[in-house]
Amino acid sequence: MLIVMKLNAPRSDVERVKEKILAIGVTGNKGKVDPELFLNLPGVLEAIPVTKPFKLVSRDVKTENSVIQVDGIRIGGRELTVVAGPCSVESRDQIIDLAFALKNLGIRFLRGGAYKPRTSPYSFQGLKDEALLYLKEAREATGLRIVTEVKDTATLAAVAECADILQVGARNMHNYSLLEALGSVRKPVLLKRGFAATIEELLMSAEYILSGGNSNVILSERAIRTFETATRITPDLNSIPIIKKLSHLPIIVDPSHGIGVWDGVTPMSLAAIAAGADGLIIEVHQDPAMALSDGYQSLKPSRFGRLLEKLQQLAPILDRTLTRLPESAGVGR
Ligand code: PEP
Ligand code: MN
Repeated sequence: MLIVMKLNAPRSDVERVKEKILAIGVTGNKGKVDPELFLNLPGVLEAIPVTKPFKLVSRDVKTENSVIQVDGIRIGGRELTVVAGPCSVESRDQIIDLAFALKNLGIRFLRGGAYKPRTSPYSFQGLKDEALLYLKEAREATGLRIVTEVKDTATLAAVAECADILQVGARNMHNYSLLEALGSVRKPVLLKRGFAATIEELLMSAEYILSGGNSNVILSERAIRTFETATRITPDLNSIPIIKKLSHLPIIVDPSHGIGVWDGVTPMSLAAIAAGADGLIIEVHQDPAMALSDGYQSLKPSRFGRLLEKLQQLAPILDRTLTRLPESAGVGR
């Protein structure tokens, strides 16, 4: 049961509600607790029965869609958000050049991994703090907002200082210490669904962050493991309408990690938006063949630009908008 107090309810009203809860706890309740027990008390605005293992992320608590704001840029609602950039920050020149190329395509959010949680300990692990410096420089030079992954609580403060949005990777969706720590960070969190996690588990992970006091969570569908072997993993676009029904939080899709091959990224991006996603996070690299991670699923900027054109045509059919900064706003290099 979620009990919402009136804004100016005095402390004594809150205490009375607490006493009532304790009394029910002591005597026990047979079956459902009747909301009337609380609605009759002074100062109580609403009493919402909760039957699901998550509350704050659910539509039971908030019926309208949440819109997350980053310096006035809206994520969710009618607006489609596109985050783009390389899997990993590989060098200063790579990230700065790509940031300008993306800005010239009208993009407002730059992604790039600094701390990379890799399946193999022998794979490239990211440039870490050095990458954070380059991301900061890219932000200052282009005005693009930064999305980068936070891998653990030990590096959270450093990553949060650089990032405008903190990405929690698929492998970390169940890292409850990290989720708890993110509850007290004042930055939006992009929470990816683990590849063996159910929709309910994703929502419970988001609940950790909201219940810690940070309501700025953006969910991200990636893909789940199935018996199919033609792709490493299977994008679960069914989750979009299901999550939209259950939760008010925005959800963006990662078609790059979803299908895992570059020539599948455009069709799966269009499918995700058609299914109701609030945006996309896409891997883009100047020279995918030379990328230090995930090159085979990265788009070159030119192909990514063609995808944006298609998204812009699709948006009005779905009653959505895709804001792209005018090309002239980009600082040429
Ligand atoms: C990434 O975004 O590069 C990444 C590692 O994602 P995921 O956590 O979905 O594997
Ligand atoms: Mn990647």
